[in-house]
Amino acid sequence: MFLLHFLLVTSVLQLSYTASIQDEYKTYKGYKLYRVVGDSQEILKLIKMMNQLAEIPFYDARGARGDILIAPELVQIFEERVRLANLQANVEIGDYSEIIRSEKTGSRRKGSDFSWTAYYDVDDIYKYLQNVSKSHPDSTELVVGGQTYEGRQILGLRINTPSENKSDNKPVVFIESGIHAREWITPATTTYFINELLTSNNPDVTALRDQFDWHIFPTVNPDGYHYSMTRDRMWRKTRSKSSTYCYGADPNRNWDHNWLQHGATNNPCDYQTYGGSKPFSEVETRTLSEYIASLENLLAYVAFHSDAQILLVPYSDSVEHTDNYDDLVQIGKTSLEYGRQVNGEEYGGPATAAEILYKASGGSMDWVREKLGTPIVYTYELRGSYFHWPAEKINEQGDEVTQMLLGLFKEAKNLGYY
Ligand SMILES: [Zn+2]
Repeated sequence: MFLLHFLLVTSVLQLSYTASIQDEYKTYKGYKLYRVVGDSQEILKLIKMMNQLAEIPFYDARGARGDILIAPELVQIFEERVRLANLQANVEIGDYSEIIRSEKTGSRRKGSDFSWTAYYDVDDIYKYLQNVSKSHPDSTELVVGGQTYEGRQILGLRINTPSENKSDNKPVVFIESGIHAREWITPATTTYFINELLTSNNPDVTALRDQFDWHIFPTVNPDGYHYSMTRDRMWRKTRSKSSTYCYGADPNRNWDHNWLQHGATNNPCDYQTYGGSKPFSEVETRTLSEYIASLENLLAYVAFHSDAQILLVPYSDSVEHTDNYDDLVQIGKTSLEYGRQVNGEEYGGPATAAEILYKASGGSMDWVREKLGTPIVYTYELRGSYFHWPAEKINEQGDEVTQMLLGLFKEAKNLGYY
């Protein structure tokens, strides 16, 4: 009896202790963002070694350059390892918590209305989609692209304006964003684009809207996005329970195409690229893939990520080119040129991730291209600095993306894709 009581008391204490820790938004106080330069193999080894030592919330290796976020208690050992490996490390951001604090204060909401001067959590984004579908009943409807581990829906908006000839089957365009939870600018840009399609007076934009049957999903990893907004800014994965003490898989390494072959790990505790226990182990990717496969007449698939500022064409895990690679590059170039006219911003690419970024298997874009044969498939990496983008400048990327999509479909039409 005493033992039972003791166990009960300690487990209650543990529960409340865990709850009080989890209730807090992780501050990242004193975390340093380093840029490491030198031998690419040594950089990869350094990142691997740090990942074995502790949870590393952010790392990114691209050739002779690597970025890594280091907790204060790991700074000494990290700098020692950098020296031993003959690498050079510079501190890019001295205290990552200041970025997080600036996001909290810089985000301005306009009363209860949805706006593009603030970042909104899942419930608000879904409310926005519901309101839009109510105010445009003839041309829009809510669509459910799938389910999540925590029981949410993957909610999207279908925009399909009535056409004169009702038997017309318009080409379908599918847009996904927010598959990586911490890339906040992507859901914001996608709702901005929805708003442009529905309210713009620009005849090019209204023509773009009317030509297609749009299926647009601002946040396809809503559990992860909510967690990133409320608990851990650097969260990227889903929130499924992967093992006794680690959570989530990378939903863009979990699709059933060359699963786990490149740029993914089988370590469930890895903060970034755990591919899941098997292909489509995550309910989000499995159900979303079923939705996409059910779409007839799918012409184009577009995924939004941040913040490498490049345009990617399939495949992400191979230097092999698709049979319409040259067309995709030509269309992509026009798209980027349209975007450049807005803010003068140059994007890298169009190119395959394997050639311009790094090889990564199990991504949504590759699966769509390979399994469904969708002709026009792109991943846009938007702009930003370590996933941070000021809320008051969301419109800047929103306008850029709107123009990029106008350019994309203009050139696709020129080449006879529709
Ligand atoms: Zn991403």
